[in-house]
Amino acid sequence: CGIVGVIGARQAAPLILDALKRLEYRGYDSAGIAAVAGDGTMDRVRAAGKLRNLEQRLDSHPLDGGTGIGHTRWATHGAPTDANAHPHVASPVAVVHNGIIENYRALRQKLQAEGAVLTSETDTETIAHILAHELAQGADLKSAIEATLSQLEGAYALAFSFAGQPQLLAAARFGSPLAIGLASDMKMIGSDAIALAPFCDEIVYLEDGDFAILTQSRLDIYDRDGHPVEREAVPVPMQV
Ligand code: GLU
Repeated sequence: CGIVGVIGARQAAPLILDALKRLEYRGYDSAGIAAVAGDGTMDRVRAAGKLRNLEQRLDSHPLDGGTGIGHTRWATHGAPTDANAHPHVASPVAVVHNGIIENYRALRQKLQAEGAVLTSETDTETIAHILAHELAQGADLKSAIEATLSQLEGAYALAFSFAGQPQLLAAARFGSPLAIGLASDMKMIGSDAIALAPFCDEIVYLEDGDFAILTQSRLDIYDRDGHPVEREAVPVPMQV
């Protein structure tokens, strides 16, 4: 339902929580955040129910790191439980997802036949496993993302973070909106520019089929054919 990502923050988790609160009005049933610390360690906290449940868990289990992704979920596949809350992880990949992967049953069966152990009932978890599998085959990140997206049928906005890669985020969209926020010292990903506006100077709206690879210093965007594309950066919308 709501997606936020950040790279280059002083601490990602409090910023992601703040941005997720700006998307609360859309409704959701659970939430979660994954952060990657400077030494590459990735950790996540998830909670069914309101963001304040997540906030309470974060008080006793703080997440360290300036890079991370967060989500408010509106369950479509699998009950609104802690285990079905995003981010979903298949090491080294963590993913948050808005939308529905229509062919997830077939993807799930294929992954399980290959030995993958899925720990949720969601359509989303398959995406993390496919990308982790592509990376394990030795594909570079761009090719691995392309190979993953080519297997998905349905609608998605996605944000990815990676264990061992504190300076890396990725994003993709097909049929669901997604924007990148630019600030002097950090970048963000958001399903709605409203979530990014207070923290960013400019917004880049991804077009349908686009995917993006973000580092602190670079934003590389590709269209659905994998060709590099320029998308215009526009000033943040007026805050309400
Ligand atoms: N289909 C996914 C799920 O059920 C994502 C739902 C959403 O858009 O929040 O977990």
